[in-house]
Amino acid sequence: MTSPTRVLVLNSGSSSLKYQLLDMRDGSRLAAGLVERIGEPGSRLVHTPLAGGGERRERTAPMADHTAALGAVAEELSADGLGLDSPDLAAVGHRVVHGGLRFSAPTVVTDEVLAEVERLVPVAPLHNPANITGIRTAMALRPDLPQVAVFDTAFHTTMPEHAARYAIDTETADAHRIRRYGFHGTSHAYVSRETARLLGKDPSEVNVIVLHLGNGASASAVAGGRCVDTSMGLTPLEGLVMGTRSGDVDPAVTFHLRRVAGMSVDEIDTLLNKKSGLVGLCGDNDMREIRRRIDEGDERAKLAFDIYVHRLKKYVGAYCAVLGRVDAVVFTAGVGENAAPVREAAMEGLEQLGLAVDPELNAVRSGEPRLISPQGARVAVAVVPTDEELEIARQTYSLVSN
Ligand code: AMP
Repeated sequence: MTSPTRVLVLNSGSSSLKYQLLDMRDGSRLAAGLVERIGEPGSRLVHTPLAGGGERRERTAPMADHTAALGAVAEELSADGLGLDSPDLAAVGHRVVHGGLRFSAPTVVTDEVLAEVERLVPVAPLHNPANITGIRTAMALRPDLPQVAVFDTAFHTTMPEHAARYAIDTETADAHRIRRYGFHGTSHAYVSRETARLLGKDPSEVNVIVLHLGNGASASAVAGGRCVDTSMGLTPLEGLVMGTRSGDVDPAVTFHLRRVAGMSVDEIDTLLNKKSGLVGLCGDNDMREIRRRIDEGDERAKLAFDIYVHRLKKYVGAYCAVLGRVDAVVFTAGVGENAAPVREAAMEGLEQLGLAVDPELNAVRSGEPRLISPQGARVAVAVVPTDEELEIARQTYSLVSN
């Protein structure tokens, strides 16, 4: 019998489930989809068969929990001849947001691993419970199959202590596991490696600044394939200005909101995570809409854009200093891959650092990794589409196929 070659990738949110089925012989996608509003009125599954040319399908039956959602996904896959009972399925790869310090590599899930992911819930209260639910659900459906956890924090565990520790009382920090963990690690790992490939080099030979600019956004400094600093911290709130998160603020802003504005801790949490960033500054978090408003002369949208870009530049400058020698700055994720004006503005005036963007190359729209710096530039500026699902599938498959 030939070895199984398919990997199902699951990304479970509190009320959502994203999935992709990949064939690891060539990394091709066989199917992809999303279940939304699990356990809420109006549950919806959108399924797209990607092999054999089937049509996109939608169902709106009630789905009370993740078990019902994954059951519906399994039915859709079966209808395409790709059922989860197939002997071709090698493993399920799960995106797990927080792996703390313990998990620096993909890990086959055991009861003990689940217990440790559970222990990390206080530092990832929104994400880890949903990830655990996803794992348990998949385990119940195929108990014989390896379930592999791929952690968002894993790539950042190489950060040196001087980058990872906050300058707060050591005993308090250690007692409550307060330190910088970083997130989006799967994307930073994939994109930094693909950038080395684009430059025709081995990852160990290049220093790269990765700018993952999606609705959530983070920067990382990667030296010879290892992360040495990243902008997100204990939680994904620190660092760059994001769609709805503030990124860096003086921590005293929170005391002020509590003491002077009389807000509760939960209200402050919601303010900084959901009502700040671009949406807090101008009411929109979609960069397309912000650019459209700027073109119409909207001052608030312009200021939001300028604040976003200013923060980005500060991190690029900081990471040039951290790395000493930079071979490439790379843009990825929804904004990074698509918003040429953001890339242009972020690199503007950085010629002293060897950074520049060629306007014609920057205007090209493409799904391929590409250089946008002028020919012969000292530092490459690149756009590399991220692919977290492929990276999770690869890491999962490499663990179970050996
Ligand atoms: P992500 O979290 O990586 O899916 O990125 C989502 C964000 O990408 C959206 O909120 C938009 O701000 C941005 N985005 C997507 N497409 C475009 C585009 N064509 N131009 C500018 N921004 C875009």
